[in-house]
Amino acid sequence: MGFELLGLSEPTLKAVADAGYTEPTPIQAQAAPQVLMGRDVLGIAQTGTGKTASFTLPMIDILAEGRARARMPRSLILEPTRELAAQVAESFEKYGKNHKLSMALLIGGVNFADQEKALDRGADVLIATPGRLLDHFERGKLLLNGIDILVIDEADRMLDMGFIPDVEKICERITKRHQTLFFSATMPPAIQRLTDKFLDDPKKIEVARPATTATTITQMKIEVGPREKRRALRQLLRTQEVKNGIIFCNRKRDVKEVFASLGRHEFSVGQLHGDMEQRERMETLRQFKENEIQLLVASDVAARGLDVPDVSHVFNFDVPGHPDDYVHRIGRTGRAGREGTAYTIATKSKIDVRLLEAIEKLTKAKLPMDENFALEKESRPIRPSDRRRDDRKDSYRDSRRPNANTAKAADDMPHEPFVGMGPHTPAFLLRNTEKKAD
Ligand code: AMP
Repeated sequence: MGFELLGLSEPTLKAVADAGYTEPTPIQAQAAPQVLMGRDVLGIAQTGTGKTASFTLPMIDILAEGRARARMPRSLILEPTRELAAQVAESFEKYGKNHKLSMALLIGGVNFADQEKALDRGADVLIATPGRLLDHFERGKLLLNGIDILVIDEADRMLDMGFIPDVEKICERITKRHQTLFFSATMPPAIQRLTDKFLDDPKKIEVARPATTATTITQMKIEVGPREKRRALRQLLRTQEVKNGIIFCNRKRDVKEVFASLGRHEFSVGQLHGDMEQRERMETLRQFKENEIQLLVASDVAARGLDVPDVSHVFNFDVPGHPDDYVHRIGRTGRAGREGTAYTIATKSKIDVRLLEAIEKLTKAKLPMDENFALEKESRPIRPSDRRRDDRKDSYRDSRRPNANTAKAADDMPHEPFVGMGPHTPAFLLRNTEKKAD
């Protein structure tokens, strides 16, 4: 089935063809005609299914008629994170390039005055995170009674991040009769209640069971000692055909450390965590999207919903603490029918065993062990001076240096014979010191 059967206009179809898409994904095929008919939609779909285009494409055609007035946006899209909001804005630009729709983006970390100017000019499409939208509303800079279409995207993520009360407030303030498009990967009770309250006889579209993982993803685990994880990661990165990959850590602190460690080992790497400024995060994301860096070390919250097409690999540096996060993490690869590989680095610890069981229960599939993987010693020995350096635990400080991305690893220096040892270097000097060295 081609896009032309969905009822979209010629200029929109042309933009879709220019984007290189030949066939609608299942959510696009099912949702777009319903949206064009003006119906409320409840889409149960993960990112990676093409859900963004499933609402942006028909919205572009609906909004092509009519004009926005100052401070009265005609449609509102709520996103849980600034990055997701920016990505949806990019979609509108890409698919709406043959239309003249005006757009405003209200996200945190960006100057209020510029956002107010965009609102004053009038917006056909307003894309916002809930907190910042309410700030503008409460300052009287924004009227919500011109909204014809409301989109609530990634509702379960909003729930995780504590945004549901804000979302409810916003829904209550849109008094005009409007169409609501609601998307969530899962339907926990709090989300169900929200849809019961605010959707009017919605067309329910479920494209993949909430907690199933895309079949285009090859999933594997490896098991190593707790102090061998970084070496195992490096081995995977060197032996797999990693075009680009995201490495997930459970804690911010580990994101920083793994990033610094990979930088010292001269991998092309960036990091994404909650302590970074918005500007830095957007810049890192841009570099990753444009292949200026090959790897991204990220925390769950920072990476939520990232649309980075065509990521070849996902590495779970830690087994995620919530099985839902596993599904979301590995959903960064194998998107829109492409092949992807997800590796999980586990230890024998009780906690990892329990977390893996929870993942297998949720995904209803066994996570196979990569039988071909055997942890190898890294060939080059460590010099005593490196050991002293590493003892100072400077990896954390390195991550804060501006050029930490390219910092040369002390333990990457070519090995020179140890002075005074004659032809034999004692074994203890050659022993791998992974524990602290990386
Ligand atoms: P989403 O689920 O909206 O985050 O989209 C996932 C990825 O699929 C994005 O990179 C889109 O550019 C891409 N995509 C969306 N629709 C299609 C399509 N019909 N064919 C191929 N790729 C698509």
